[in-house]
Amino acid sequence: MTQSLQGGCACETVRYRLTRAPMITHCCHCTWCQRESGSAFVINAVIESSAVELLGTPPEVILTPSESGKGQLIARCPDCQVAVWSHYPTAREAAAFIRVGTLDDRTAISPDVHIYTASKLPWVHLADNKPAFAQFYPDTATVWSPEALARWSAVMASRT
Ligand SMILES: [Zn+2]
Ligand SMILES: [Zn+2]
Repeated sequence: MTQSLQGGCACETVRYRLTRAPMITHCCHCTWCQRESGSAFVINAVIESSAVELLGTPPEVILTPSESGKGQLIARCPDCQVAVWSHYPTAREAAAFIRVGTLDDRTAISPDVHIYTASKLPWVHLADNKPAFAQFYPDTATVWSPEALARWSAVMASRT
């Protein structure tokens, strides 16, 4: 990964830089992501929030309904309202799920795994030879690298 993986919203009020590679990147085909994005899937790069350096105005964090019932926090530009990342209840704000489509170089990060393919739109054909699961993957250890798992443990320990 290049040193300066940057991204931001459409109006450039919110700009960010990732200071390390993500732990894992999910391509999520769930119906919630489809509705929320208005698209076929969402690409979420999971990274420590401490590795997301803000270069512009901080995003506005909005509680959005989610399948778990606990809601997810979506970080949006206060001006153009484009979503740049989200926080899920498990790690709370210690981890950020970066929306890969907001990176300046969208080719810099590609999915490690496809999840919730049970609701994948029928015209989406996966040809990247990455693991794909009908729901969420049942065993994190088979999908995540040992290094990423260690980073995740540190994230969970740092939750506030
Ligand atoms: Zn904006
Ligand atoms: Zn989803």
